[in-house]
Amino acid sequence: MPTYDFNCKKCNENFTVQVSIKDKSNVNCPKCGSKEIQQRFTRVNLGGISGGNAGSSACSSGSCSTCSGC
Ligand SMILES: [Zn+2]
Repeated sequence: MPTYDFNCKKCNENFTVQVSIKDKSNVNCPKCGSKEIQQRFTRVNLGGISGGNAGSSACSSGSCSTCSGC
């Protein structure tokens, strides 16, 4: 069963629950019981991925003529 990280909008509690994807919308805050929670995406690193790949792949030929940043 996957685990999800949530943040409670009411009491700002961060918590992790192990729940099936179909029950994800039924999760309550364990601290205050609120359903006003939002999922946290702790592995959000889109900026790092796009930046790193753009630099390395663009210059694989050894020339910077095809990229504008390195
Ligand atoms: Zn709460």
